[in-house]
Amino acid sequence: MKDNHFETEAIRTQTERSQFLEHSTPLYLSSSFVFEDAEDMRASFTEEKERNIYSRFTNPNTSEFIDKVCKMEGAESGYAFATGMSAVFSTFAGLLSSGDHIVSASSVFGSTHALFTKFLPKWNIETSYFNINDVDKIESLIKPSTKILYAESPTNPAVDIIDLELLGKIAKKHNILLVIDNCFATPYLQNPIKFGADIVIHSATKLMDGQGRVLGGVAVGRADLIREIYLFSRNTGPALSPFNAWVLSKSLETLAVRVDKHCENALKVAEFLEGHDNVSLVKYPFLKSHPQYEIAKKQMKLGGNIIAFEVKGGVEGGRAFLNKIKLLSLSANLGDTRTIVTHPASTTHSKLSKEDRMETGITDGLVRISVGLEHTDDIINDLNQALN
Ligand SMILES: *Cc1c(COP(=O)(O)O)cnc(C)c1O
Repeated sequence: MKDNHFETEAIRTQTERSQFLEHSTPLYLSSSFVFEDAEDMRASFTEEKERNIYSRFTNPNTSEFIDKVCKMEGAESGYAFATGMSAVFSTFAGLLSSGDHIVSASSVFGSTHALFTKFLPKWNIETSYFNINDVDKIESLIKPSTKILYAESPTNPAVDIIDLELLGKIAKKHNILLVIDNCFATPYLQNPIKFGADIVIHSATKLMDGQGRVLGGVAVGRADLIREIYLFSRNTGPALSPFNAWVLSKSLETLAVRVDKHCENALKVAEFLEGHDNVSLVKYPFLKSHPQYEIAKKQMKLGGNIIAFEVKGGVEGGRAFLNKIKLLSLSANLGDTRTIVTHPASTTHSKLSKEDRMETGITDGLVRISVGLEHTDDIINDLNQALN
């Protein structure tokens, strides 16, 4: 972000006004755009002219959304996708070739894990994993064919923190790319490019939308790398729809105030959970008890809205707790205005073996809570009655 503050750019970064001089950016639902003449058409297709041709390539609404995220992350360039997963996949597909190798944290989003284990190997792209509590091992996993170092922080669902500055140094030393999924933090709380990330990915479905309405994804970073990701995407078609881009761009206008309140609420809920007799462990980045509290403080502005906690009584304890919830939602999303609770061991991560679950910190009684914007007294009352 060069000129103005984060909040200002979130509101004032706007696509050019049309002839109607609208104040708020309108929705440009148009699959294609017209040319003046044959020469205009030729120059547009050869990219001598930068302009909208077809909405699979660019569209005024998606461009506005991308420009905002670039300013928020301090990135040169970006591309927006239909979902967070298409952003993750297109980043790998755009940047990697057969025979390339990835080094990743073992604790990553479930579908990203499936990409590493089931799909990328089809194109002879293999992944090696490091445990986030064993970052000293990372360098020993790097091979001549390693192209990407990949991680999320905070991690989903165990809310562990990885030292981004350390990852940046390792990537630089070995001349490999650092790709960070910054979804849980949002660009408001953490900017991985500052620590050496080359590409930053977001599932815009989560806190960027923030109201559980649309799916979306975005990748921003070094212009030469984004160019490769863009060319792959423009030809394979995972583009974000103009409607969803319009919703997301409006949502970013309030990202800072929403995330501030989400974090304030989450800290209160985390403190309540820490004091409850039926809870054996609470992981929230800005609680002093978090194992990577110091690192969280160094790289994040606030602690985020996700808490992981351990209900006493294992898998059955976790499920019994969920069954007693009255106000809060049992749902697969996160980063919504509505507080959401999930039990990863019996749902999103039930397909993993017990060893793999333990490796990624998903213990039997682990509950993940995405703290919303309801009044904290009501959130805590519901959690309290379910725990008792
Ligand atoms: C949800 C999520 C994704 C995938 O995003 P979709 O928009 O659901 O495709 C990727 N990474 C993280 C950390 C997520 O939480």
